[in-house]
Amino acid sequence: MTLFSCTHPAWIEVDLGQFKKNLKAVRNRIGQKFFCLPVKADAYGHGIVEIAKAAEESLCVDYLGVSCLKEGAILRDRGISLPIIVFGALHEDQISDLIRYRLEVTVSSRYKAQLILQECCKLHQTCRVHVEVDTGMRRTGVRPETAKDLLLWIQDQKLLDLAGVYSHFATADRPHDSFALQQIEVFRELASHFSDLSVIWHLANSGGVVFYPDSYFDMVRPGLLCYGYFPDGSEDPMQEILPCFSVKAKVSYFKVVGPNEGISYGHLYKTARQTRIVTVPIGYGDGYHRSLSNLGFVSIRGKTYPISGAICMDQFMVDIKDEEVFVGDTVTLISADRKLGPSLEEVARLANTISYEILCSFHGRLVKKYFDK
Ligand SMILES: *Cc1c(COP(=O)(O)O)cnc(C)c1O
Repeated sequence: MTLFSCTHPAWIEVDLGQFKKNLKAVRNRIGQKFFCLPVKADAYGHGIVEIAKAAEESLCVDYLGVSCLKEGAILRDRGISLPIIVFGALHEDQISDLIRYRLEVTVSSRYKAQLILQECCKLHQTCRVHVEVDTGMRRTGVRPETAKDLLLWIQDQKLLDLAGVYSHFATADRPHDSFALQQIEVFRELASHFSDLSVIWHLANSGGVVFYPDSYFDMVRPGLLCYGYFPDGSEDPMQEILPCFSVKAKVSYFKVVGPNEGISYGHLYKTARQTRIVTVPIGYGDGYHRSLSNLGFVSIRGKTYPISGAICMDQFMVDIKDEEVFVGDTVTLISADRKLGPSLEEVARLANTISYEILCSFHGRLVKKYFDK
């Protein structure tokens, strides 16, 4: 038995068939624009290599987006050949590897652009760069006024290949947001000065794709949407774009507990009467938020049950009252099908966070199972 074939009683299920349907639906929506799929943070917890391979197979995607060298290097080492943009700020000691791995880098200052150029000269290679412009996120990116000079300077450097200019929304997860509209205008104004430049102008994240068709420019970069979720927590009215991520475990233990007994650390939950308690082998050590203690719920055999007491590092308990549940039964903690168990959005709301963070929390011990109907 190798590490990768061993069974484990708690796992993530990814429906690659539905994922590819989501990509097709986004492709239909954006027409002929370029399509960049963000696969950072292990493809929002879905598994970076498998998701990148599915994206490549789908023929819907033109670009992949990662946050750092490490993620891009993993994709190249595993044979992914799509163009890859690194969104994160550039680190001086990583430039030669970024070039070697054929990653397209984000440039947000003349100084960094010069460092890349030096490295290109040393290696006798070109590097494709995207200039990031800050239109309102105030994270990374040059000011629009500064962008003009930087773009002209990069254009003059033979070894720097200006591939794109981009910006990022701060508030586009809802429709009709005045600040998002303002960011689109600032970006459009800048682009209008460079209409003769043949580079890819890109701005739209998921919110942009769903709510701001004016933000498509030459390429869109929807992450959350491609994984099946709308950025405002609503559902796709067409029911085409659907989640493909579930978290499940097998009941590991069953016991009968008397009335007025405390359950788990701190006895946060007390039994009202003699009752049946089952144990689920997943905890905050797997990334299941401890804040769901006494608050979250799970689904077993089509019924919903509350989490009873504190979530431990490796397990938690569920009071099933008089219902029948057996050791080995499947427990659904997050359900891709919203009718069959807790949705990601419900779990995020109860844990007092956003869907993105829940997706990125699961790691380490859980195994991933992929299927493609
Ligand atoms: C993460 C990211 C995206 C995708 O954002 P979503 O809200 O998931 O659509 C797009 N662009 C950049 C630069 C990002 O870092």
